[in-house]
Amino acid sequence: MSNIIVIGSGIGGLTTAALLAQQGYRVTVLEAQTYPGGCASTFTHQGYRFESGATLAGGFQADGPHALVAQRLGISWPIHRCDPAWVVHLPDRSITLTSDYQDILAQFPEGQAFWAEQQRVADLGWAMAADGLPWPPTNPAELVQLARIGLNHFPADMRLARYALGTVRGWLARHGLAHNTAFKRFIDAQLLISAQTTADHANALYGATALDLARQGVQHVEGGIGGLAETLVQAIKAYGGEVLYRRRVSQIKVEAGRVVGVQAMHGRHDTTGTFYPADFVVANVTPWSLDTLLGEDSPRRLRRETHKRQAGWGAFALHLGVKADQLPQGIPDHHQIITEMEGPLGEGRSLFISMSPLWDSSRAPSGHRAVTITTHTAVQPWWDVLASDEAAYHARKQAYTERILQTVEGMIAGFRDSLELVLPGSPVTYQFYTERHLGMVGGFPQQSLFTARSPHTGLPNLRLVGDSIFPGQSTAGVTLGAMRVAQDIQRRLPIEGRQHERSSLHVVPS
Ligand SMILES: Cc1cc2nc3c(=O)[nH]c(=O)nc-3n(C[C@H](O)[C@H](O)[C@H](O)COP(=O)(O)OP(=O)(O)OC[C@H]3O[C@@H](n4cnc5c(N)ncnc54)[C@H](O)[C@@H]3O)c2cc1C
Repeated sequence: MSNIIVIGSGIGGLTTAALLAQQGYRVTVLEAQTYPGGCASTFTHQGYRFESGATLAGGFQADGPHALVAQRLGISWPIHRCDPAWVVHLPDRSITLTSDYQDILAQFPEGQAFWAEQQRVADLGWAMAADGLPWPPTNPAELVQLARIGLNHFPADMRLARYALGTVRGWLARHGLAHNTAFKRFIDAQLLISAQTTADHANALYGATALDLARQGVQHVEGGIGGLAETLVQAIKAYGGEVLYRRRVSQIKVEAGRVVGVQAMHGRHDTTGTFYPADFVVANVTPWSLDTLLGEDSPRRLRRETHKRQAGWGAFALHLGVKADQLPQGIPDHHQIITEMEGPLGEGRSLFISMSPLWDSSRAPSGHRAVTITTHTAVQPWWDVLASDEAAYHARKQAYTERILQTVEGMIAGFRDSLELVLPGSPVTYQFYTERHLGMVGGFPQQSLFTARSPHTGLPNLRLVGDSIFPGQSTAGVTLGAMRVAQDIQRRLPIEGRQHERSSLHVVPS
């Protein structure tokens, strides 16, 4: 039977592994950490269960990526709907995001036609994604699949061309909204976290679905976001696959132009490692890490990509233990604060705050809540300051912490007094815990569909999954990428002697 090795247990890697295991492949996931989930994991500290990155998950609506995967695997997700999704605080107003857009339309009645159009475009985008969207196509089978999807949605999809080619800013301009400072800032805030860029640069077609999160519904995961990864791990095991922790892959071995396996170190003190043979390897890593793992065997195109590609965003995070009774009663669980009406975002000027839900007592000691606050940040300055002066690196972390806490205090008086625990994390921290190059997170800004990255690596039996490939970041985004990669592998590596796929099961999360 064919051996498939998956490097990394992020949501992209685990979803690919689970879908392939369910199809009858022998799948082994090798994970460097002692727990699964990568940027969508939960870690425990002093009785708190903190979410390392992602805090809210979308894509569970009928035909949404997580719903489709659950159907195929016969699993159910440990989720609870979070409504309102979050509150966006601009300097001059706060807007509550709900599935019916009620507050949005009340505060921006001039945006009514824009939102009606956004919903139509997003509906079509989701429907096409549910058919599998192998973008950009990399082989004749994927081209045929794309053509079929095009025909299925013809002629409605013809109307998508102008969104596919334009930016959200151009779309706003058509509605006379490009110079509406508050409205544009409101759109920028949402695009920054869902498309990693703002209206001036975000692709309009991508933007339509990126702006659709609240309408489609966002979910809390019981016990923390890591519950998604745990559910996938259980499914992999139930279908006969393996997930091995403390296995850091140090090399992908190539012979005669094909990957033959990987070398993995068992824990930090292992110096020789173990060789895991493979017929196919799926790497849940960034292109830079892939290039490093391949070493001299890295295809020229991949190496060029790693030299040419601009660094993506990193994150600065605060994980906070907070006394629950000092927070305002009935405060929604998620908030986005934008401190200035114009100018660049990130670096503390835009914050995303997530509080563990009151109903989830597993997340914090009694009477407390686990809170995560994150801001986008450029990665390189953190490494530069660390290389030149470690004390200055710690001072920088402290300065970011202070700035963020001051901003939150402006929204929630007494917030600082409610703090029992403060754990800051920079891109250096993310690099340590997720192995991501320079601690870059959230994939690449979704600016043009024509520069989107495919899973291809230049080696016939090696694929990339995760938020570096289209459609990029979020647990839903990487799930779509994983579904595409699993389908591609099934086409290329038919299982000898396989009678039929294993019947689906019902995995009850522990
Ligand atoms: C601060 C922050 C907030 C976010 N908020 C949200 C949100 O609210 N909602 C949302 O949907 N998304 C959010 N995201 C994005 C989302 O978390 C990611 O896009 C997604 O989880 C990435 O999944 P991935 O498949 O790329 O894997 P990753 O998360 O990158 O995981 C990769 C895994 O592979 C392992 N690994 C890497 N290299 C090796 C190796 N050599 N050997 C063995 N193991 C290896 C790592 O340890 C890690 O476990 C957020 C991200 C961040 C950082």
